[in-house]
Amino acid sequence: MQDIDLRQYIRGIPDFPKPGILFYDISTLLRNADAWQLATARMAHAVSPWQPDQLAAIESRGFLTAAPLSTRLGCGLIMLRKPGKLPGDTISLTYALEYGSDSLHIQADAILPGQRVVVTDDLLATGGTLAASVALLRKAGAEVVGASVLVELTSLGGREKLDIPVHALLSYD
Ligand code: 5GP
Repeated sequence: MQDIDLRQYIRGIPDFPKPGILFYDISTLLRNADAWQLATARMAHAVSPWQPDQLAAIESRGFLTAAPLSTRLGCGLIMLRKPGKLPGDTISLTYALEYGSDSLHIQADAILPGQRVVVTDDLLATGGTLAASVALLRKAGAEVVGASVLVELTSLGGREKLDIPVHALLSYD
């Protein structure tokens, strides 16, 4: 299993969620016990030198990468959530989408001043979601030290929107 190319466990589903979009489905990797174990081990190995205090998870598939990474690294986990999901005071940030806008929230007391945070999601495409998450984390007082994704779609240039190091386990053009 050690030398294996984990890309074989990700499948592309045409025309999802809209005609003309090729959706990279990570479910087929998650459901394979050995592949998922290896994927999270490799991601944790890459993130470990950044020495995060917290892993910040982007709703919803970022929760899947954040949970095993945070336990492997021995750090905490913070949720970045859609509006109306987090109890108590929150800080939010609204960002533009192709059509319309979206918001992410974080609990106002989630980050201690200067805590080192790595943000994680399943996939980096245009980079809009990760860039907004980094801005929100900074607004909440974090020192954002890196981003970790399972999949990067490199031709969309998402990492150029980010001013932090990005680790992607698997890349597609
Ligand atoms: P971006 O903001 O970088 O354009 O899009 C990334 C966000 O959209 C991530 O939160 C990710 O979950 C979702 N996303 C966009 N395209 C795909 C895809 O092909 N597969 C998966 N699994 N998620 C996608």
